[in-house]
Amino acid sequence: MKHNLLASIAICIGIFSTSSAQSSEFVSSGFPQLDEWVKSCKVERPNALGYPGNYASRLDGFYQWYTANNMQNILINNAGDPFAQSGALSSLTFEREVIERFAPLYGFEQDNLWGIVTMSGTDGNNHGIYFGVNYLKKKTGKMPVVYVSDEAHYSNYRLCDVQNLDVQLIKSDEMGRMIADSLEAALDTTRPCLIIYAMGSTFKGAIDNQQELNAVLARHPEIEVYRHVDAALFGGYLPFTQYRYLVNRQQIEYESISISGHKFFGIDSPCGLFLTTREVYDNQASFDIAYLNANMRMISCSRSGVEPLKFWWLLNTVGIEGWSEQASAMMENTAYLVNELRRIGWPCWNNEYSNTVFFRRPSPEIVSKYNLANSYDDRFGGPLSHIVVMQHVRKDIIDQFVKDLQGN
Ligand SMILES: *Cc1c(COP(=O)(O)O)cnc(C)c1O
Repeated sequence: MKHNLLASIAICIGIFSTSSAQSSEFVSSGFPQLDEWVKSCKVERPNALGYPGNYASRLDGFYQWYTANNMQNILINNAGDPFAQSGALSSLTFEREVIERFAPLYGFEQDNLWGIVTMSGTDGNNHGIYFGVNYLKKKTGKMPVVYVSDEAHYSNYRLCDVQNLDVQLIKSDEMGRMIADSLEAALDTTRPCLIIYAMGSTFKGAIDNQQELNAVLARHPEIEVYRHVDAALFGGYLPFTQYRYLVNRQQIEYESISISGHKFFGIDSPCGLFLTTREVYDNQASFDIAYLNANMRMISCSRSGVEPLKFWWLLNTVGIEGWSEQASAMMENTAYLVNELRRIGWPCWNNEYSNTVFFRRPSPEIVSKYNLANSYDDRFGGPLSHIVVMQHVRKDIIDQFVKDLQGN
């Protein structure tokens, strides 16, 4: 009752209008703890430079529509396979459409496609690794060895632990790319190979050189291979840049890919995309579950029905055109940050296709003010920090940051 009243007052005074200025409006919940928390989120958001969230995204229209229909009171659960069924009280039809509409950006063809909206980039990696293991086991009768670089996101290594897999951490070069010779030296030629390509190493923003690494694997035709691409952050913006070939499996072969929805695409809670081929799907162990009347290939039973709707909403409101503009602006602002750091003589580095810039670590005050992420590498003089140039990291905040550095 109280809630509805609040909502109607809010609508009357226009709090939920789509104007971007409205996000500074404050509505009390009646709970001081929640009110404080909301205020701190609004203060910290503009200065969040160290992690890859998109804090310029707008889902106002989505929530207006959703709550105006009181959909917040109906459980929407996508337990099931979006390519096999479309139960009531699910959004599986929309989930499937989302997968089908994103697929061409990554070079998947509609007649050889399977995928889901995941809970996160990690969940997509979990599916990639699990599907890869099952695929290779089915083809060879043997468990694979997993190869992943020591600069790849930690979730990959963690998931190999969860799935109890043998994993080889391969050394990276100084800019963060897996070293091809080290891969070749580590290859176990008696077992299949599940290789994970880092598409955006966590700290330096490197992309493993898939062409070079694929060439190593091609020299060992006796080894059956499955390639999963961990593209949580970069898989979002690369399709909208000149580097789009790097995520296109028509140009650089791979079997599956994971992309986060709450990074570039700007969804307000963790989710993602997992895409693979029908061939991989068809070579999984089948899980026919009678009570669900379904063949459950997904690792989780219940899955969010709301995140696919947000994806669908953004596809139809921001869309290819909007994301292309955002990606260009991000690339421009990344170049601007690099130039500004060079102008003031602050040592910094950046991979050409990457929106991540790493540099000599500033004072703890600056690290904390801008929520920077830190690392350490002797090859670059020791302590480092990085900025991930997402949509909200524009010239004004870069100028402010560089000014703070000069006074440092
Ligand atoms: C963010 C990230 C992850 C983890 O994804 P979540 O969506 O946070 O689970 C994995 N790999 C890379 C390359 C990332 O950037």
